[in-house]
Amino acid sequence: MLEIKNLYSGYKELHILFDVNVKVNKNEITAILGPNGSGKSTLLKSIFGLTTIFNGEIVYEGRDITRIPPHSKTKLGIAYLPQTENIFTNLSVEENLKISGYTVSPDIYQERLELALSMFPELETKLKRKAGTLSGGERQFLAIAMALVRNAKLIMLDEPTAMLSPKFASMMFDRIKFLRDELKLTILLVEQNVLKALDISDRAYMLIGGRVVFDGKAKDLVNHEKFDQLCIGYTL
Ligand code: ADP
Ligand code: MG
Repeated sequence: MLEIKNLYSGYKELHILFDVNVKVNKNEITAILGPNGSGKSTLLKSIFGLTTIFNGEIVYEGRDITRIPPHSKTKLGIAYLPQTENIFTNLSVEENLKISGYTVSPDIYQERLELALSMFPELETKLKRKAGTLSGGERQFLAIAMALVRNAKLIMLDEPTAMLSPKFASMMFDRIKFLRDELKLTILLVEQNVLKALDISDRAYMLIGGRVVFDGKAKDLVNHEKFDQLCIGYTL
């Protein structure tokens, strides 16, 4: 569904990613792992069009999207959820959802809204509340609900469980699985919770210093001889 080929990218003239190759298959969860500062967020931002691309190609559903702007990528069904600031805190939950669904027809919006609320029932009773009053976990749920309302096909999540209580983190992993298994969506997941992420993922990539040092089946990464070494500094 998404292929990143020989990507070199960064900020202004600063190079962060080097020769990154990543394939994201449809209806799978692909995990991007790696220590702090290894370039995981930069990879998601590069796919969405928020960095300088020095070289390489990004192909989505057979189409070269390397240099198209973020709003066009949204229209193609790509959703990027940054780690924070992924909702409008001054607006109500309902307004957030409405804004996200402004491009879909009212009928489809209603249908998508019902689907999103059935997946995140926590939000249903809080539709009139200001999004800024939600808990960290509820905010992440709202950000995903917003992607569902606008009919996203590929959802890129940047550390959705960071700062969440263990209870919410575990709920989040279950909901991410649901996105793949029940809604047939495709997920690109950046996580610091390596074992939990590998547990629900199909494929995984390990980034270190802006380069891919491992890619393969998520199950094989756990058995990799250097796995412990790769995970130094990680929450296991
Ligand atoms: P990760 O998400 O794996 O922790 P990042 O992609 O956020 O890593 O960061 C990779 C490198 O890029 C770090 O050295 C970081 O300091 C740098 N970086 C991140 N954002 C910017 C930016 N906006 N401008 C310049 N450098 C940045
Ligand atoms: Mg990051």
